[in-house]
Amino acid sequence: NADLAMYRAKELGRNNFQFFSEDMNTAILHNLEVEKELNIAIKRNQFVLMYQPKICIADNTITGVETLVRWRHPEKGIIPPDNFIPIAEETGQIIKIGAWVLEHSCHEMGALIREGLMPKNAKVAVNLSAKQFSDPNLLQTVLDILIQSKIDPLNLELEITESIIMDDVEAAIKIMEAIKSKGIHLAIDDFGTGYSSLAYLKRFPIDVLKVDRSFVSDIPEDKTDMAITSAVIAMAHKLSMKVVAEGIETQEQLDFLRENNCDDGQGYLLSRPLTLPQLHHFLVSNQKQTKVKSRLENPND
Ligand code: C2E
Ligand code: MG
Ligand code: MG
Ligand code: MG
Repeated sequence: NADLAMYRAKELGRNNFQFFSEDMNTAILHNLEVEKELNIAIKRNQFVLMYQPKICIADNTITGVETLVRWRHPEKGIIPPDNFIPIAEETGQIIKIGAWVLEHSCHEMGALIREGLMPKNAKVAVNLSAKQFSDPNLLQTVLDILIQSKIDPLNLELEITESIIMDDVEAAIKIMEAIKSKGIHLAIDDFGTGYSSLAYLKRFPIDVLKVDRSFVSDIPEDKTDMAITSAVIAMAHKLSMKVVAEGIETQEQLDFLRENNCDDGQGYLLSRPLTLPQLHHFLVSNQKQTKVKSRLENPND
């Protein structure tokens, strides 16, 4: 379809300047190929989830996990989300993939809580794309999944980016309020990289700000990033929001975040994204450590 190809070319041109020249045709063909293969992937269930633990920085306990999707391609191996989510978003295939992610995330969280491996108030954080967020069926889909997986709305956190909200602020606030009214938590992902203004921020019914990895990664060398990070934490707390720092890779970064009262942390230092069996192992050994620690601290318990 020529119109579609033209449209795609425009979109690609806008987002990926490297495709402007002779690579344009190759890029369009590549995307059409991926679209076709994604249809097969959806039919044959070729997606897998990784689970990255989130840790309470003050006491080192696990507060939940973020699920990160991967495409297990039969020939190409594991494909990261950045290589197929944008295409699935453009084609609308993200709605089906996203529903699968939500379903599996909630299902596994329910099992982990019932097995006593996760605290009862643990949260599974699921990334939403723009199309999913503005899909009029989103809330009903989520509510159905919560019932099927027998978890409480407070066990689910939906992550959206600033750019998704800023696309149509008034519409976004309505959607966020509908989600919030059911007790589901909302987080702004990659905070600080988008265009949301402070004037709007106070109107967003948001529970959590996730400080983008780009601010964390140059701590302690970059004093500006440190100033921004501590200011964002203080501001979020004044707005009654919790703060999660992403991309923590060093002890210095963790120490800085603890000194600045950041609530939760996520990153390779604490744990890489894990497969489900690896997560089980992580949780079991974490529990043993907590028991040893609390016995040392309270020998009479
Ligand atoms: P995100 O939601 O900001 O996820 C964090 C990304 O940072 C993940 O990459 C994670 O593996 C990576 N990461 C975590 N800790 C560290 C660290 O200490 N250092 C570094 N360098 N990286 C770290 P991943 O899994 O490749 O995901 C990339 C993006 O793809 C996500 O960014 C999210 O926007 C999107 N995504 C992932 N899963 C889904 C999904 O199920 N649905 C949608 N719509 N988007 C998804
Ligand atoms: Mg995220
Ligand atoms: Mg993020
Ligand atoms: Mg990101």
